[in-house]
Amino acid sequence: MNPAPASRLPLRCWAEIDLAALERNLRLIRASLPAHIRYVAVVKADAYGHGLPQTAARLMHAGADLFAVATLSEAATVRDLGPGWPVLLLSPLLPEEDRYLADLDLAATVSTADEVARFAAVGRDSGRPVSVHLKIDTGMGRLGVWHERAAELYTAITATPHLRLAGVFTHFASPDDDAAFTAEQRRRFLAALERCPGLRLDQLFVHADNSSGLETMPGASPFNAVRVGLLQFGILPHPNSLLAQVHTEPVFSFRTRIGIVKTLPKGTTISYGRTHTLARDATVAILCGGYGDGIPRAASNRAQVLIRGRRCPVLGRVTMDQTIVDVTGVPDARCGDEAVLVGRQDGAEISITEFSRWADTIPWETLCSVTKRVPRVYRTALGV
Ligand SMILES: *Cc1c(COP(=O)(O)O)cnc(C)c1O
Repeated sequence: MNPAPASRLPLRCWAEIDLAALERNLRLIRASLPAHIRYVAVVKADAYGHGLPQTAARLMHAGADLFAVATLSEAATVRDLGPGWPVLLLSPLLPEEDRYLADLDLAATVSTADEVARFAAVGRDSGRPVSVHLKIDTGMGRLGVWHERAAELYTAITATPHLRLAGVFTHFASPDDDAAFTAEQRRRFLAALERCPGLRLDQLFVHADNSSGLETMPGASPFNAVRVGLLQFGILPHPNSLLAQVHTEPVFSFRTRIGIVKTLPKGTTISYGRTHTLARDATVAILCGGYGDGIPRAASNRAQVLIRGRRCPVLGRVTMDQTIVDVTGVPDARCGDEAVLVGRQDGAEISITEFSRWADTIPWETLCSVTKRVPRVYRTALGV
């Protein structure tokens, strides 16, 4: 007998990706913004762990205007799906990567005069100008030309025939919790643009806001695009966000199953390091997922999971392949039952924000930490 192909084996620990929800989210976000604002879909890091090809294909279908990625390999994946679709590389290129700007027809982020010279050489050698977005550092201290020197770099770009300026942008350092500094960054950005001679903003992508900044976008301003990452996956960047009114839905859920159920006597010390002592006789379930799947070890003794719609606490340390939970309150828990780490079950829900807090991290990192062992299962139908 042939072994079953891995893709048809029963699921032990998996992520469910609701592509229909993703599409609805894009449409809701777009509808909440002024009509002229273009949608830059940020799909770096395997589309925040959701699976880049599937996610990007659905976002193309939903009408994203431009894709932003971090690496050439991500750019190549998007390029394969959508020949001609604009793709912006957000990260710096290594010198030996430069030529792929032409081969893959990408727009590059430019922060330095050295990059201007290198990318111009690519444009000259390929016979077609290379598209660039000028990035202005307004206080993040990461990529971008320092705002007081942006005009010089702008002039260098426009002085070379081998480059085509396609956009200008900046990135906010703390849009969630420092409105004053975000306003200052906006002010620095706009002041820098005013010092660029002959700049025609209406012909460029002019962007600053990511998911967190969207709600603070001023009405009358030259901004005409937003870079949406987390929010399109239905996750609010911070708990009190006004974006809750946009009513996006989670796209990702994280699920595993019960391997065994057994009882242990009061006083038993549980898991590696014997990090939990039972205060009473308990029924425990051993889940088929651990940090080898992306359940953070930092969530040991803190996280909860849903089983039959009830919250069950994790006992002791999360291990590589298994996690122990207390199911004393769920007498009908059985081998094979589904356990929800992130998502909904029988009217109960654990949000990715709550799950991330148990591990002292943020939803962005949680999504990037789900490992390769975890199959992504796609739901595609456009339901309600
Ligand atoms: C990742 C990233 C974004 C998207 O941020 P979210 O908070 O996930 O919306 C936007 N801009 C840049 C430059 C990024 O690196």
